[in-house]
Amino acid sequence: MKDFINDNYIENILAQAKNTDAKHIREIIDKSYELKGLSPEEVAILLQTEDNELIGEILQAAHKIKKDIYGNRLVLFAPLYIANHCTNNCLYCGFRRDNKELNRVALTMEQIKNEVKVLEREGHKRLLMLCGEHPERSSLEYFIEAIETAYSVKTEKGGEIRRINVEIAPLEVNKYRKLKKTGIGTVVLFQETYHHETYKIMHPGGPKKDYTWRLTAMHRAQEGGVDDVGIGALFGLYDYKFEVMGLLLHALQLEKDCGVGPHTISIPRLEPAFNAPAAIKPSNPVSDHDFKKLVAIIRMAVPYTGMILSTRETPELRDEVFALGISQISAGSRTNPGGYQENSSDAFRAAQFNLGDTRTLDEVILDITERSHIPSFCTACYRLGRTGKDFMDLAKPGLIQKFCQTNAVFTFKEYLLDYASPVTREAGEKLIKKMLNKTFKTKRKKMVSDRLQKIEEGTRDVYI
Ligand code: SAM
Ligand code: SF4
Repeated sequence: MKDFINDNYIENILAQAKNTDAKHIREIIDKSYELKGLSPEEVAILLQTEDNELIGEILQAAHKIKKDIYGNRLVLFAPLYIANHCTNNCLYCGFRRDNKELNRVALTMEQIKNEVKVLEREGHKRLLMLCGEHPERSSLEYFIEAIETAYSVKTEKGGEIRRINVEIAPLEVNKYRKLKKTGIGTVVLFQETYHHETYKIMHPGGPKKDYTWRLTAMHRAQEGGVDDVGIGALFGLYDYKFEVMGLLLHALQLEKDCGVGPHTISIPRLEPAFNAPAAIKPSNPVSDHDFKKLVAIIRMAVPYTGMILSTRETPELRDEVFALGISQISAGSRTNPGGYQENSSDAFRAAQFNLGDTRTLDEVILDITERSHIPSFCTACYRLGRTGKDFMDLAKPGLIQKFCQTNAVFTFKEYLLDYASPVTREAGEKLIKKMLNKTFKTKRKKMVSDRLQKIEEGTRDVYI
């Protein structure tokens, strides 16, 4: 498959979008309320909007779209790094092969089991499994064994992992097919930067040098039967406006060729990393102001695509961007293989990048609950086959709310009973009570109350 990102085309529509009059910008904002998405030209115009009053209206629109489609729920997951050997040399990553000081680790299946036990005992149900790219130390066979191992771990109180999403180097179609058979959820892969010249500079060695092989990987994943794929860009490497256009064009190409766009878009910002020159001083740092704007524009452009944020951002900023369109967050994360079992001060020597937020899952949950977001561990859609195009067809306004909001309450209740600290439990029960009174209509309210009672009495894994 050919490269479908044309840098000149992006630069041109961004240039043409400059100085658009306020009336036309407002027409685009109005159109976004129809929840049908926006064209590349319209997105370029929003990206080029620098007037603070108009940006305020963009944020307002995103806020409403997020509320109408997703309600106040936030899906939580933990990343699980299993190995950090890598043949690539990405200038921003601590795992890069030229980082000779990194402690290289490939967890054994026993160590993986122990990591998963820690995460299950904190209450996690969803994992994102990752590793570096290395033919021996991170082979597909090793990765598949790790997935099967993680799924097999059961702990007390019904502790189990119900969905594993994966983030590994690009594969051939038949390998994606093999991976899919292990029962994984979404396959995630970030293009890092859609700008060809920057991509070339940032990836000086190893198989990742090949821009097109990476760009077309999510098409191959779909061909191999993976119906939920996730794309992303690493913000800070190149101009954020260009990257948002790249993400949108990637999403549209997937929709055109595979019948369905990406399930998620991830928007990590570059973090400092051990011996990684491009991460110490990002060449295009994205300010908080621009970050909020880009989250809002992505929300308006592809309203039904989930958006993933890591919990590294400050609590204040996180709160604002949650309301603008984020639907999933990582929590209680470690980026060094084995990091959940040992909390060593030397962890950075094996980590991919440094974390600004090392709070536990319970602390993150308390924080977001107090801000009236409902944490969700739901995995129902994927287990009931509501994936890919079926999910997108279902995801009309109100329907995500109907299933997802209800399942969020059930899984949160289970968390509160089985894993929460007393203070989190109290805050969570208060939020559930508030939602019962405000969010659900009479018939649904009765169904939700009855099932909450069952959970209270010991039933687990309740979902619709
Ligand atoms: N090695 C595979 C790859 O490169 O696709 C698997 C995923 S890698 C472990 C996960 C992602 O971490 C990368 O795609 C990159 O976007 C992100 N990453 C690397 N260095 C980072 C940094 N300094 N700050 C934030 N994210 C970073
Ligand atoms: Fe390796 Fe991925 Fe890090 Fe690049 S980003 S050095 S491919 S682990």
